[in-house]
Amino acid sequence: MRSIGHFIGGRVVPGSSGRTADVFDPNTGEVQAKVALASKGEVEAAIANAAAAQPAWAAENPQKRARVLMKFLQLAQAEMDSLAKLLSSEHGKTIPDAKGDIQRGLEVVEFACGIPHLLKGEFTEGAGPGIDMYSMRQPLGVVAGITPFNFPAMIPLWKAAPAIACGNAFILKPSERDPSVPIRIAELFKQAGLPDGVFNVVNGDKEAVDTILTDPRIMAIGFVGSSQIAEYVYATGCAHGKRVQCFGGAKNHMIIMPDADMDQAVDALIGAGYGSAGERCMAISVAVPVGEKTADALMGKLIPRVEKLKVGLSTDPDADYGPLVTRAALERVRGYVDQGVKEGAELVVDGRGFTMQGYENGFFMGGCLFDRVTPEMTIYKEEIFGPVLSVVRARDYDEALALPTKHEYGNGVAIFTRDGDAARDFATRVQVGMVGINVPIPVPLAYYTFGGWKRSGFGDLNQHGPDSIRFYTKTKTVTSRWPSGIKDGAEFVIPTMR
Ligand code: NAD
Repeated sequence: MRSIGHFIGGRVVPGSSGRTADVFDPNTGEVQAKVALASKGEVEAAIANAAAAQPAWAAENPQKRARVLMKFLQLAQAEMDSLAKLLSSEHGKTIPDAKGDIQRGLEVVEFACGIPHLLKGEFTEGAGPGIDMYSMRQPLGVVAGITPFNFPAMIPLWKAAPAIACGNAFILKPSERDPSVPIRIAELFKQAGLPDGVFNVVNGDKEAVDTILTDPRIMAIGFVGSSQIAEYVYATGCAHGKRVQCFGGAKNHMIIMPDADMDQAVDALIGAGYGSAGERCMAISVAVPVGEKTADALMGKLIPRVEKLKVGLSTDPDADYGPLVTRAALERVRGYVDQGVKEGAELVVDGRGFTMQGYENGFFMGGCLFDRVTPEMTIYKEEIFGPVLSVVRARDYDEALALPTKHEYGNGVAIFTRDGDAARDFATRVQVGMVGINVPIPVPLAYYTFGGWKRSGFGDLNQHGPDSIRFYTKTKTVTSRWPSGIKDGAEFVIPTMR
């Protein structure tokens, strides 16, 4: 049995806690490796290593730091095929989708290559008599990222690239369900010239997370995962004086207006609802057709498409999506579908019984489609995180707008329409962080920021884009005077520029 350890101080080290977790092959359902779960002491050793390496890294000029990122990009691109295969073998997403996962992470590395420019501060010449004022952005020290299973390359890179570029040392605590790609990313950074100790990976569970949350040497924590844990990480990290940003779960709606191009809307729903088996925080899980006629037309086209979804091995180039990540995830999703039926939603396509011939123990599930879901139902209120789409029929535009606006989650939302006025009104008024207009998964590009509202995001700065540079640095403002000599004596009144 393969063992997966940690990456500390520039090398892979085995775990010493004696505790491990199973890493599955989601296609077969078999355990393919054991990942070490770090003890408090192991995490503390990683933090000590990072703290020792950070000052020299911060002292490198930003262009030199950017060059390491550039070299990393080259190495990762050259290894794209094998990285995608490795990612897919633990997560279960298809190979092309795994490449997308890696590529969206690399795009944030590309953004962070602009660090010499991004770190520039402000300067005011002559802010007062003989006084210049300027601000600079300095690294925080040792910072950490705690990441979920569903994007094992992208989200670690969203955290690591800006953190390192700013001159911090970084501790990654990836998901214990698919830990191999994060370790490989750390190795590639080392190969790219990153000094040992600047990027460490500690695998683990609550014990590792709690150590990160409470250790005084950790200055900032970026978390992505479910809202319950996000809230816990936010509250605990803040209580220990750290800067914390946490991104949580989602329930993303797609509004289909009567004038929408119905074929385009159905294509969008199929990809955004069922791609990656629905295990995306920006997946569409609720479709909201406006008016009964729209709803009937939508269902007429949607049902056969859901029935025809090709569920396959993650290595199958023709598969629309592969297995879920674990048996526990599969059972949780099936449980939600049972609950929806019990609460009176109409299950018009039932994928619960799907099995893959020859892979009967794999974590596969067919696409499920519910019609006539209402806002009181559990399947509407909670995040399912599986290949399940709920259709909530809205009488009119205002009712449709109110659904995502009132939902406790506020990550992404989309509207499909040909009416620019409706689209503009929707984008202005909806209480959700990321909006798509005829775009089902509006994940902002690396140079904008990514973040949801309400219970989808805790903290005040988003991921990547300019916010990430603010998050991983502290501002120092310098007021300087070079007079020929201080002639005025002591000043007891607060200085103003009157
Ligand atoms: P999760 O909350 O189970 O795990 C996230 C991280 O927290 C992992 O590293 C895990 O080891 C750790 N963790 C788990 N339980 C913990 C505990 N009790 N105490 C301390 N740490 C703990 O999430 P997941 O299942 O890996 O990922 C799926 C979730 O992530 C979904 O809810 C999805 O919407 C969300 N997500 C959100 C975004 C976003 O940007 N908003 C992006 C991707 C995923």
